[in-house]
Amino acid sequence: MRINVHAGHNPAGKVACGAVGLINESTEARRVKEEVISQLRQLGHTVYDCTVDNGTGQQDVLKKIVAKCNAHIVDLDVSIHFNSGAGDKAGNGRTTGVEVLLYSNASRAYREAEKVCKEVAVLGFKNRGLKYRPNLAVLKNTKSPAMLIECCFVDDKDDVQLYNYQDMASAIVCGITGQRVQESEETGKVEDGEETPTGNKNTLYRVQVGAYSVKSNAENMQKKLREAGFDALLVQA
Ligand SMILES: [Zn+2]
Repeated sequence: MRINVHAGHNPAGKVACGAVGLINESTEARRVKEEVISQLRQLGHTVYDCTVDNGTGQQDVLKKIVAKCNAHIVDLDVSIHFNSGAGDKAGNGRTTGVEVLLYSNASRAYREAEKVCKEVAVLGFKNRGLKYRPNLAVLKNTKSPAMLIECCFVDDKDDVQLYNYQDMASAIVCGITGQRVQESEETGKVEDGEETPTGNKNTLYRVQVGAYSVKSNAENMQKKLREAGFDALLVQA
């Protein structure tokens, strides 16, 4: 596929930056965006980063994003945002969750958008479903099929505790393409990335808590670990 991806808003600290809650929308949207692009490229897709970091105001950011998007004919325009307005900074045990915005219910991105919601919900976020926003510039003024993903809420403690950018990105990539980056490629990525272990670069230490032949059993253990606050990863051996 050919895909445009961008993080919403200017960077944190600048004019026209995103929402701020327990986490910062501009910062996290850029993390997810980088990881989504990296995974899509590893899967062989052509990706253009249409993020804007130098807008002079909100309208200018949007205008520049749309111009970058429309410079390429693609299968999909993907806009990555985080939501706010949950007002649950203490945590009530329930996430407020994910939603994906489309121009209308006739959007050519409908199928992929629905899949993105479902995949993010698999991580444990409430699926708020598809919303139609014909007035949003990145949905209205882009030429290719477009979706705007509100990954989760920056001001909900339950969302923030469940969230990490790698899993969020993997869910988005799977929703869009139906594909996941293989474990071996992820291992390579860790070695090159910021989590490079000290000492021997080729050594990776894994902590394993169980191995299951039935996938639902593995998922149950992953859920337990996540509820206990651990960032559990399910891999197929
Ligand atoms: Zn936003």
